[in-house]
Amino acid sequence: MMKLTILLIASLLLMPIASIPAQTTEQYDLLIVNGRIIDGTGNPWFRGSVAVKNGRIVRVGKFGATARQVIDAKNQIVAPGFIDVHVHTEDVFSHPEAENFIRMGVTSLITGNCGGSVTDVAKFLGNYKEKPLAVNVATLIAHGSVRAKIMGLDDRAPTQEEQQKMDALVEQGMKDGAVGLSTGLIYVPGTYAKTDEVVELARVAAKYGGVYASHIRNEEGGVVDAVNEAINVGEQANIPVEISHFKIASKRLWGQSPTTIGLVEAARKRGLTVTVDQYAYTASSTSLDSRLPGWALSGGRAEGRKRTADPVTRAKIVDGMKAELKDRGFKDYSYAYVASYNADAKFNGRNIAEITKEVRGKNKVGDQIDQILDMYDKGGASMVYRTMGEDDVQNIMRQPFTMIASDSGVREFGVGVPHPRGYGNNARVLGRYVRDMKIITLEDSIRKMTSLPAQTFNLRDRGQIREGFAADIVIFDPDTVGDKATFEKPHQYAVGFSDVIVNGGLVFDGDKMTGTMSGHALRH
Ligand SMILES: [Zn+2]
Repeated sequence: MMKLTILLIASLLLMPIASIPAQTTEQYDLLIVNGRIIDGTGNPWFRGSVAVKNGRIVRVGKFGATARQVIDAKNQIVAPGFIDVHVHTEDVFSHPEAENFIRMGVTSLITGNCGGSVTDVAKFLGNYKEKPLAVNVATLIAHGSVRAKIMGLDDRAPTQEEQQKMDALVEQGMKDGAVGLSTGLIYVPGTYAKTDEVVELARVAAKYGGVYASHIRNEEGGVVDAVNEAINVGEQANIPVEISHFKIASKRLWGQSPTTIGLVEAARKRGLTVTVDQYAYTASSTSLDSRLPGWALSGGRAEGRKRTADPVTRAKIVDGMKAELKDRGFKDYSYAYVASYNADAKFNGRNIAEITKEVRGKNKVGDQIDQILDMYDKGGASMVYRTMGEDDVQNIMRQPFTMIASDSGVREFGVGVPHPRGYGNNARVLGRYVRDMKIITLEDSIRKMTSLPAQTFNLRDRGQIREGFAADIVIFDPDTVGDKATFEKPHQYAVGFSDVIVNGGLVFDGDKMTGTMSGHALRH
């Protein structure tokens, strides 16, 4: 991209600049010219310029002006910076460039998902003043973290006093700027909560205008009940519901996304705000621990190891795992790939069936379960699970209430074999699903990455190319944009983005991060 730091007259319109003298004296910080603007609302692109001053978009349309810096978009798309509503970036202040996100156009992160967040929201969000970021960050306050703080990892209902303490922590988090409450009802300790515990916390978040974002209790055979539970929480607590990484992760139920989508549609028809987010892959990524029955994990790994060492209890765990496998419609664990195993990095990138065969010389399901339990005992692993059907991914993407979100963390380049979504998710939607497969339009895909997330999480001045809005802007080439990261070689940045601007600061120039740290903490 050509960037001129000298004063420059940009003339875009047919009307001579001399006829609008008031504007020729205007001094903008940044002017983007020759772009096709997609404003984030879903409206079709239009030609025009975008002017930025003091971190805000101050003018959009056809006009001539002067600016300190001019970017020639060269007929590419100029869109709002993408808002990734589902990330796990509690460590973002240790990796402040968030390069994997920036380089796929993501300018705002909403972390604290799946029941795991900081519990001191004020401190977390306050960090950015001393530790500047390239990216904006907002957070949810998470049920699992709050519960662990008050009750440890116990598998039981809270006492009244404990519930009140959890309510108070959620209330404080909301007052400090959290955008809502999250749950992770498959994880320890979230999985030990009954619906009423969650409803009470959701009522607290609702009082402050928050959202209820849930990694639901079951994404496999029990997905219908789990979607209903999330909607039920929303109706009882009178709070908007956001169902995280919406999917059908049981091979047995592939093709049944119309059923779960129907539940969302029916709830919306009754008047409840329900939205969902999705990553654009047929594989998920989470812990190895989550393959074990929830009860076996109670109290943490030290307690869990006692259970795997006791023959009677171990037999029950094995039965539970076999039942889960059947429920998912898989014959064995060849769908389960190790992303990162600290105890032995040579397992990284390989599936449980392959590993079992190598380590044990035999490969029945029982052998694979022994291998998994051995790895659990040795500290667990993060995993990639190839569990979804392509038709369901596409069908979910087409829904008007679906957002695009990565479910990723900040990546350390070259470390481990993580899910490629952290490098490619948004670019993959724009390349594979919009340009190549035409599943949704370019404008609609941008809406799902910008104004819909902003509306859902109450980020009122972001997600659109609109006067008065924060100047989070991406420029990309719709003909070349795409993801390079694969399951085998995930550490590859997205391509096709020539400029990424955060609050008016150019943080990525098409080649490299510029070192500009113009991110903000976003408070509800
Ligand atoms: Zn999750």
